[in-house]
Amino acid sequence: MENIFVHIRRRLEWMKELGLNVWLETTETASSDSSSKEVELKRLADEISVCRKCRLGSLRKNAVFGTGNPNADLVFIGEAPGATEDETGLPFVGAAGNLLTQELGKHGISRDEVFICNILKCRPPNNRDPLPDEIASCEPYLLRQLDLLNPRLLCGLGRFAVMTLLKRPISIMKIRGTWQSYHGIPLFVCLHPAAVLHQPQNRQLFSADIAALARAYRERHDRLPEVKEANLI
Ligand code: SF4
Repeated sequence: MENIFVHIRRRLEWMKELGLNVWLETTETASSDSSSKEVELKRLADEISVCRKCRLGSLRKNAVFGTGNPNADLVFIGEAPGATEDETGLPFVGAAGNLLTQELGKHGISRDEVFICNILKCRPPNNRDPLPDEIASCEPYLLRQLDLLNPRLLCGLGRFAVMTLLKRPISIMKIRGTWQSYHGIPLFVCLHPAAVLHQPQNRQLFSADIAALARAYRERHDRLPEVKEANLI
């Protein structure tokens, strides 16, 4: 918790150094705002945990709200929980999650620094594609989540997630690595790490996409040290 407040203060101090007219809050005020946001996120997570707005609510073991920094500037959005996520209640765990964590780590980005969630909060049976009425029921939760998190950047992971966010058919191989927009927030399009595990020939593309995303994130985020070239693939 303390790290979050230190992070906020550091960013405000940096903006002041740049000559921007910001009001540097007292630590107590910043702490209060941050904790109220966490309270609101917890309320939303509690609401989702008992949701039965679509059929998936009666099939899940655990709803998967998402995890990460409530003050994250970057939010990753996948399609829906899989079997391990349903078991644990956590997003992007297992081999695919490890691959994403590993690639972010190459650029000095930890999962604690960002936020990771899915469009659907409950697992579709046998990992089938979410149905239109399930998306219509669940996407408002994502919008409320983003409203609270207020990130500067989004990253859509995989064809189905990006297609759902953009509301149009896409070819993931054609638009991966590009910037789109979701409700006015810049949305970076990336391959899904699980798909990359199934098609290892796309591993280099995935690495390149995460590298491009990390550069954009650093430009908008703060003056954290750049990763040395030797650490990049
Ligand atoms: S998938 Fe979304 S809308 Fe459907 S039951 Fe789960 S939380 Fe509710």
